[in-house]
Amino acid sequence: MRKLCLKKNEDRRLRAGHLWIFANEVDVKQSPLTDFAPGEAATLCDWRGAPLGSVYVNPASLICARLHSRKPDVELDDALLAQRLESALALRQRLYPGPWYRLCHGEGDFLPGLVIDRYGDHLTVQVTTAGMEQRREALTAALHTLLHPTSILWANDLAARGLENLSREQQSEGQLPERLEVPENGCRFFAPCATGQKTGWFFDQRPNRAELARYAKDADVLDIFSYVGGFGVTAAAAGARSVTFMDASAQALAFAEENAKANAPGCEAQTLCGDAFDLLRQMRDEGRRFQAISLDPPAFIKRRKDAALGLAAYKQANDLAVQLLAPGGILASSSCSHHLETQSLRACLTQAAAKRKLHARILFAGGQGPDHPIHAAMPETAYLKCFIAQVGA
Ligand code: SAH
Repeated sequence: MRKLCLKKNEDRRLRAGHLWIFANEVDVKQSPLTDFAPGEAATLCDWRGAPLGSVYVNPASLICARLHSRKPDVELDDALLAQRLESALALRQRLYPGPWYRLCHGEGDFLPGLVIDRYGDHLTVQVTTAGMEQRREALTAALHTLLHPTSILWANDLAARGLENLSREQQSEGQLPERLEVPENGCRFFAPCATGQKTGWFFDQRPNRAELARYAKDADVLDIFSYVGGFGVTAAAAGARSVTFMDASAQALAFAEENAKANAPGCEAQTLCGDAFDLLRQMRDEGRRFQAISLDPPAFIKRRKDAALGLAAYKQANDLAVQLLAPGGILASSSCSHHLETQSLRACLTQAAAKRKLHARILFAGGQGPDHPIHAAMPETAYLKCFIAQVGA
C-alpha cells in the first residue's frame, strides 16, 4: 500500500483522534497527491514515516484523505465495511424498538463519506466521497447481506459531492415505497420518499420532539419550518388544543396535515404555506399567540462564509418566535448549522427575550439523537442544537 506522508507537526490533530487530512498538510515532496487515484487506499504516515493509520485518498478534494483505521495497511474492503455496518446496526438495535433510524452517520460510525437512513425494509443512502463511491459494490453487497432491504434509494444529488468531483444523481434499486412510514415517539408519520427533503425524514430531532411534547397539553402549538410535522404532530398527540404548521413546501404541509389527523384526530390543525419570515410578521401583527412553538429552520449557515448573514437570520427568526409566544410560553429553538456555535444559538434566544423585556429560562438543551453519534475528536460531526426555554415576564 502506498504511503501518504504528512508535513512536520501536521500529525497532531490526527493523533488526537481526528479523521480528516487536508491537502495543505501533506508532504507532497515525499508523497505527491497527484500520484494517487481518487479513492485509492494508503497508509498515513507522519513526516518521519511513522504510520498513523489507514486512509482513502482523493487528490481532487480539499479534504484529501480520510482515516478509517488506526492500523497501517488496512483496506476499507468488504470485510471491514461489513464489520463497521454490523456495529452501527448493533448500536441502533440497543436504542430503538424497531428498524427506523439513521443507521450510519459517517465519521460518527467510523465510515467517512457514508450516511444511511433506515425506514424498515427501505434504505436511503448518501455517498459523499470518492473513496466510498469506489467501494459501492462492496457496500451494496454488505447492506444486502446484513439487512435484506426491498429497496435502496441512492440519494446522491448532494452539493457536497461536487467537492469530491462526483456526479450528482439519484438512483434506486428495488421497488421504492410510495411514501415512507416512520413510527416515532408513539406517533406514526408519513413522509415523501425520493421527492422529500434530504433523506425524507429528519431522525436527528427525535429526542427533542418528545421533549417539547411534555409542554403540549392544552396548548396552541406553532410548528415553524414544520416539514411533515415532526414537532407539531408529536405535540398534538400529547394533547395540544391546536397546531399550526408553517412551511414553504405545499407538499410537506399536505403530509403534516394528514399526519396530524391520523395521530391526533381531536386536535385542530391548520397549515400556512409561504416564507416563514413573512408569515411570522403577519401573525405577530394580527396579535396571534401560542403556548408552545417549535422553530427548526433549514441550515442558514451552510458554509463558513455565510456565518454573518446566517446568524442574522437566526436572530430574526428567534425574535419573531418570542413575539408570538403567550406569557410563560415554551419555545424550542433549533439550529442544524454546524457553523453556528451552541452559545450563539443560546444568545439568539436570550437576546430575543431581553429585547422584549422578558426572562428566558432554559429547561432543556439537546442535540442530535444518538443514532447520529458525534465523533468525540471531530466537532464537525456535531451539528444539531435545540434549546427548550420558557419565556415570561
Ligand atoms: N421541523 C422539521 C424539519 C424542518 S426542515 C421536522 O421536525 O422534521 C426545514 C423546513 O424548512 C423544510 O421543510 C423547508 O421546506 C422549510 N423552509 C425552508 N425555507 C423556508 C422559508 N423561508 N419559509 C418557510 N419554510 C422554509
